[in-house]
Amino acid sequence: MAQREITDFNGIVMLRKDYRERDMLVKILTDRFGKKMFFIRGARKRGFRLAAAILPFTHGTFVGDVRTDGLSFVNTAKEYRQWQSISQDITLNAYATYILSLIDAAFPDGQPLEGWYEQTLLALRYIDDGFDPKIITNIMEVQLLRIFGVAPHLESCVVCQRNDLPFDYSQSYGGLLCQQHWQLDRYRFHASARAIYLLRLFSVLDLHKLNSITVKPATKKELRQMLDLIYQDSVGLSLKSKHFIDEMANWDDLLKP
Ligand SMILES: [Zn+2]
Repeated sequence: MAQREITDFNGIVMLRKDYRERDMLVKILTDRFGKKMFFIRGARKRGFRLAAAILPFTHGTFVGDVRTDGLSFVNTAKEYRQWQSISQDITLNAYATYILSLIDAAFPDGQPLEGWYEQTLLALRYIDDGFDPKIITNIMEVQLLRIFGVAPHLESCVVCQRNDLPFDYSQSYGGLLCQQHWQLDRYRFHASARAIYLLRLFSVLDLHKLNSITVKPATKKELRQMLDLIYQDSVGLSLKSKHFIDEMANWDDLLKP
């Protein structure tokens, strides 16, 4: 049965769509109800009272009429702020947008997200605070694999469970191969020890405990390629926001002397 509840909730504005002439549909990632689509009447009118509260990358406490079925409604916003660096920097904006679209793809609307609301909030806060957006994104990508039903075996060698030899990543074996089993897959990734170490670390890292992390550009490139491989082949996800990030990488190459 459809239920409705006027309640406070915390949320992050994920995306906005113009609706009819004066209104807007705003998808908010909420702490208690998962992702919800809110109908905001009059949102496109000049001087709309909630205009600032529903800007992209705004997060805060809202009061609304949250319904199990159909659209929900925001009555007011209690306190809210926007991530300033993310809003102003095209690169940070691209990574934050991609993280939100991953969350959007990973969970159906209206399904509570367990720890993922907090995790998303943290990831975006780190990016806004100046942490490397590529690394924060990689951590989210690795940890979201489980939600997408893909669980590459990263604890030990897929074949013999050994843990003490150098590893490489094999897409066809769905995880790590130890040096003794490298010959089983000649198309394995040929990753560096550092990239494998980070891939394994990211899969178990508690984002709350992240202090600082510095990764060489070459290693970042390997991580990007491994995760692209996993996301393309195993998850089968193709997001517009990710293509934009790939294009940005090409601009970097074009600008190199
Ligand atoms: Zn092995």
